[in-house]
Parts: sequence; C-alpha cells; structure tokens
Amino acid sequence: MNAIEGDLLLDVVKYKKLFQIAEKLHSSMDVDFVLGEIFVILKEVYPNYSYYLLLSLDTHSHSDLPIIDLEYDGENIMAINTYVSGQVHFETSFIDKHAVLYVPLKGKQGVYGVLQIIAPDCSEIPTNEIEFITLMSACAGGALENAQLFQQTKRTISELQLINDTSYQLNSNQPLAETLTFMSEQIKDYFEAQEVGFFLFSTDHAKSDAKALPGSTPYFFTQKSQTYINYIKEKIQEGNEPLFIGDLTLPTNQQIAAFHSIMAVPLVVEKKLTGFFIIMHESPYFFSFDTFKLLQALVHHSSLALTNSLLREELKKMVIIDHLTNLYSRKFLDEKIQQSMKEDEEGTFILVDIDNFKKINDTFGHQIGDEVLIQVADLIREIMRESDIGSRWGGEELAIYLPRTSLQSGVTIAETIVKRVSESSDPHVTVSCGVSYWSINRLDSYQYLFKRADDALYIAKETGKNMVVVQGGKFGNR
Ligand code: GH3
Ligand code: MG
Ligand code: MG
Repeated sequence: MNAIEGDLLLDVVKYKKLFQIAEKLHSSMDVDFVLGEIFVILKEVYPNYSYYLLLSLDTHSHSDLPIIDLEYDGENIMAINTYVSGQVHFETSFIDKHAVLYVPLKGKQGVYGVLQIIAPDCSEIPTNEIEFITLMSACAGGALENAQLFQQTKRTISELQLINDTSYQLNSNQPLAETLTFMSEQIKDYFEAQEVGFFLFSTDHAKSDAKALPGSTPYFFTQKSQTYINYIKEKIQEGNEPLFIGDLTLPTNQQIAAFHSIMAVPLVVEKKLTGFFIIMHESPYFFSFDTFKLLQALVHHSSLALTNSLLREELKKMVIIDHLTNLYSRKFLDEKIQQSMKEDEEGTFILVDIDNFKKINDTFGHQIGDEVLIQVADLIREIMRESDIGSRWGGEELAIYLPRTSLQSGVTIAETIVKRVSESSDPHVTVSCGVSYWSINRLDSYQYLFKRADDALYIAKETGKNMVVVQGGKFGNR
C-alpha cells in the first residue's frame, strides 16, 4: 500500500466514524449528552489537538467539559467573528507555533457556539482535516439544535401544566388560604425557590402597608423578612414593574441568611396595584430569565381569580346584617359576645323563638310568615337599648345580647318582648324566651352561655310557651 492509498484508507475510517457520530448525536435529545459526545469524538480522532467549546447558551451545566461562555464583549475576537458570521476562521500563532481553527456549531435556526481547535507544532491544519471537522461540527450543531428544541418543548409543556393546574385550583372556589398554599407549593417545586410570599396592600391605608397572605412561607411572617419586604414593596410601588434581581445585598446587621436572588411581580387588577409576589433564593443568579417570564405569566393568569377570591372573603365578612329582619347575623353576634366576655364584667343573653310558627306558615303562607318575623324583629329593635345587639339566630329564632347588663334587667327586657309581641302582632303570635347570664365571678364560656339559654327556652316551650324562662329553671337564678 502506498502513501496515497494509506491516506485514503484513513479517510474512509474517519468518515465511517462521522457517520456513526451523526447517528448517535441525532438519536439523543439531551443537550449535555450531545456536548459530551463531541469531546469524546474529537479526542478519538485528534488525540494531539486541544479543543474548547465556546457556547452561547446559558443552559449547559457540566463542569467537567472544557466549555467556556461565549462573551460578546470578550477578548476572543476570532471566536466572536466565527459565531456571528457562521463561517470557519483560522489563526496561526508563530510565537507559540500552533494553528487555531474556529468552527461554528450551526443548526438550521442559528449558531449555537464555536468549536476552538488548537493544533500544536504546526502552522496550519490540513484542508482535509478542516473539511472533516467542519462536517462534524455541522452534524453536532444540528444535534444540539434538536436537543435544545426538544428540551425547550418539554419546558414549555411543563410551564403550561403549571399554569393550567394553578388556574384550575384558583377557579375551584376553595378557601383563599388553601389556594395560596397550593400555589406556594407549586412555585417552590417548580422554581426551586426557598421562600415564596404573597402580599396585599391594605386598602384603607392607601398603599402604605403590605400584608403577608396565608400560604406565604413562614419566613415572611417573621421580623427578619421585613427588610426584604420593604425593599421590594418600595421598588414595586415606584416602578410598578416586575423585579429580577440576581445579586442583591441588603445591609442587615443580623446574622441571618441573605437572599441574593429575588424575583417579584406586582399583582395588578384593573390597572390598580393590589399586591405582589416574591420568590427568593440565597444563591446569587439562581433564577433564569425564563423562569422570570414564567412567573410573570403565572401571576398574570392568577391575578383576577385571586382578587375575586379575596373580594369574596371580604364580602363574607361584610355580611353581618340579615337581609330579611335587618338584625345582625349570628356570626356577628357570636363575635360580639366573645369580645364582651373578655372585656366586660357581666352580660345577659336572650333567645327568642316564635311559638307555633309552623302553623302561621301553614295557615297564611310563607310570605305572611316572613312578615310576622319582620314584625317581631322590629319590636325587638324598639325595645332593645342602643348598646344591645339583636340578631337573627337562625330560622324563626332571634337572639339579643345585652352587654354589661344584670340578669334582672335582662329578664325585664325579655318579659317586655313577650308581652309586646303578644299584644301587637298581626296575625297574632306569641314568643318564648330563654335567658342566660354570665359574670366575671364565674368561669364560663360563650358556648355554655348559649346552651343555658337554649335549655331555658326548651323549658318555656314545654311548659306552655308565651313566657320567659331563666337559666336553671323557670324563675331560677344561678
Ligand atoms: P315551637 O312553638 O315549638 O317553636 O313551634 P314552631 O312551629 O315555631 O317550631 P318548628 O321548629 O317546628 O318550626 C319552625 C318553622 O319556622 C319551620 C319553618 O318552616 C319556619 N321558618 C323558619 N324560618 C323561616 C322564615 O324565614 N320564614 C318563614 N316564613 N318561615 C320560617
Ligand atoms: Mg318556633
Ligand atoms: Mg324554632
């Protein structure tokens, strides 16, 4: 075999290798694998050369490969020229006596990086080697593009899944705290965030105060977090823009973990800034710009549902007036009694139940029944004093709480109610009352206060109706 034949045979072996490489590279959807393979092949074919990969993507994660970030403002002008033009470039160093070849890693949609090959002890790399390396790079570029597109698609799908799951949860009418806890878990999982916080500006203090909502990680309910919350709150109020911070250093005098990576997105509803989300991690530059965009999408999608859900809970709190009788709701009365039992020294509770009300309904119809209920409520309002609280206890049962009122005064009021209802109702009805009383001198609870009134009412119903029974017996007094 002569030298020419020998070279040809070598070429055949090499191109066969290239064919195998192409097949292997294109069968992988893993960017890291493709990059690793490029080096394996180069080492096999050119054991004497050294090579570096200058990559423009910020997604690679290997520390063991000779990969260098391709910086546009870097010093390696030849590499940048190769990257920008997509053409092969050469460089010869006469001092170091080596040739350098720059080959673009090109796909159909763009250039993904530059392969830098250094051939020692020679002034130029032979043309057939350049040809081979160029072909191999083209093949690697294509494979890299495929793998990258595949990973991007996978990411997009899981992003959509995240948004979809969150929207579903938000629209499922769960209590707000539950929804926010769910979202917080999702964000922690997906973004690998260490702290997740939801904040709402209080409406009464015109944007001054930001309250952490349930579902935020416990850190945000501690004093330590205040420095971060205030910093972000001010930035958000200033610019009304999402924040993407990779290297924050806040002056703190405490020995606490500092969070360097922060993403924050304002919650805007109908062009009004209503709150914000914060996501934090200790490591600098932890979150990628892609996750920042995803977080914005997530907040954008959930802001309306979140605000609706907030309003719904606010409304629920606001419903303290019963629409039929215009008396307070039972929930409101409950709260007032509990508050009074903490602050006052005594109080009296009266439970009022219309006698034989079912018969009224049956005889005159529900509408007249309602009117009777309103008449009784109006009478109670007339008899009650300013400080007393009348409520619709439920159905045709009403209740009055008389804070700082002795049992004797309470009984007098109950008796007046019984008397007046019987005198003035039309159609004629009577009511029965059960009365209970608490004082600071005796250990008591509001549940037990209710029960004593209920028991007394039961006795009144059992012993003839249209009367007042006091806790512990008809005229008894504990
Ligand atoms: P008692 O003297 O033992 O209290 O007899 P009652 O018939 O009043 O008691 P019962 O608990 O058997 O029935 C209460 C009735 O009150 C049944 C229900 O239809 C009626 N009721 C409850 N709420 C309303 C209401 O808002 N409007 C009307 N019209 N009726 C109501
Ligand atoms: Mg009744
Ligand atoms: Mg009843």
